[in-house]
Amino acid sequence: MVLIWFFLLGSVIGSFINVVVFRLHSKESITRGRSKCPSCGHQLAVKDLVPVVSFLLLRGRCRYCGNLISWQYPLVELGVAILFTIVGFYHLGFSASFLDSNLFILFRDLLAVSALTTLFIYDLRFMEIPDEISLPTIVACFLLGILGGMDWRIMLVSAFIGLGFFLLQYLVSAGKWIGGGDLRLGFLMGVLLNWTSLIFAIFLSYVIGSIFALWLLITGKAGRKAQLPFGAFLAPATIFSIFFGQRIVDWYLNLLR
Ligand SMILES: [Zn+2]
Repeated sequence: MVLIWFFLLGSVIGSFINVVVFRLHSKESITRGRSKCPSCGHQLAVKDLVPVVSFLLLRGRCRYCGNLISWQYPLVELGVAILFTIVGFYHLGFSASFLDSNLFILFRDLLAVSALTTLFIYDLRFMEIPDEISLPTIVACFLLGILGGMDWRIMLVSAFIGLGFFLLQYLVSAGKWIGGGDLRLGFLMGVLLNWTSLIFAIFLSYVIGSIFALWLLITGKAGRKAQLPFGAFLAPATIFSIFFGQRIVDWYLNLLR
């Protein structure tokens, strides 16, 4: 079962994403330096770094200082593992034959879900969408799309629709509703989605965002003026739309006819 390999690869990438998020924020080198416990600074051994498994075996505590390990680690590892499995299934089905599938688009989707997950966690934690992630992802996904036989003009048009939509709000609100990072994310969404699923993704992110805001208001966790991590709604909506956007749009248009 090739899907198991997607799952394992995803859990390793998820573990890497956890490292990237924190090191990017503290401006540490991502590739250099061994992983350390954020509480006691003890260097971690390979047995402490097995995705999900280590967390369970250690019962969520550091082997050296006993402090609690954030739930973010196993959740992201598991989440990316599941997303990679979905990408694998979406492209290969049960056939497990790579020959029938478009490897460039398969790779683009793996890259896209990894980058979007990174942006999602980063925006949730630090209320910012780092260009170090969004800009290289735009270039890479655009090139992989062309290699995979997609029309670069169509990708560019929907990318500019994504950019334009957020640029409009950015200008109207003088940068108060959304930040500059959201503009780059909007462009990336357009590269990944055609314009109909792009509109669906934007709509979906507003639905997720409204539910989240309502929940904050009801539970009293934040006042009316609290800033919302908008990228944290756009990222999952984009991932969802990569796989289901077109189907849902088609289904909806059929209803209208
Ligand atoms: Zn520790």
